[in-house]
Amino acid sequence: MESEDQATGISPDMPTITVTSSDEIVLVCPKCENRGTIRLKTPPDKDFRITCKKCKEKILVKVNKRSYYRKDITVFVKYTIKSKRREGKITDISMGGVSIEIEASKFIPPFEKEGNVIEMVFALPPKDEKLDIFGEIIRINKTDEGKYSLGIKFVDLPVYASKEIGYFLM
Ligand SMILES: [Zn+2]
Repeated sequence: MESEDQATGISPDMPTITVTSSDEIVLVCPKCENRGTIRLKTPPDKDFRITCKKCKEKILVKVNKRSYYRKDITVFVKYTIKSKRREGKITDISMGGVSIEIEASKFIPPFEKEGNVIEMVFALPPKDEKLDIFGEIIRINKTDEGKYSLGIKFVDLPVYASKEIGYFLM
């Protein structure tokens, strides 16, 4: 699918899909179910129009901006860095990533280091379904309580996880 100009030529009966704002949006044509991915430099903050490459149907894409926000949560997370198993607490989440808080005793710089890739497994309440997501440590801060907070950016967020996080943030 290809992105077109901003919402010009929108008719009221145009098929509509609602998506979560992200720099990578998976779209499914409501008419022919053709699937496509749009990659953007920045997550869109306006609705836009696309034309399905397969059936040529014009589709209005409504952008859910609320899910762009970061939401505070407290969720247990197991994560792995360079095959080392770790545990921590997710303190906030957005479509782009999470913050993980860990005890100072668990903070070991060769592993908890900016640029390192981590694999996280956690569930978003009220569901028990485990999300298995890769991320990159982009920021490390020491908290007021002497703990460490890791800023994680998701890497190649799978579609199922993107949906679950999208629902959670709504
Ligand atoms: Zn189509």
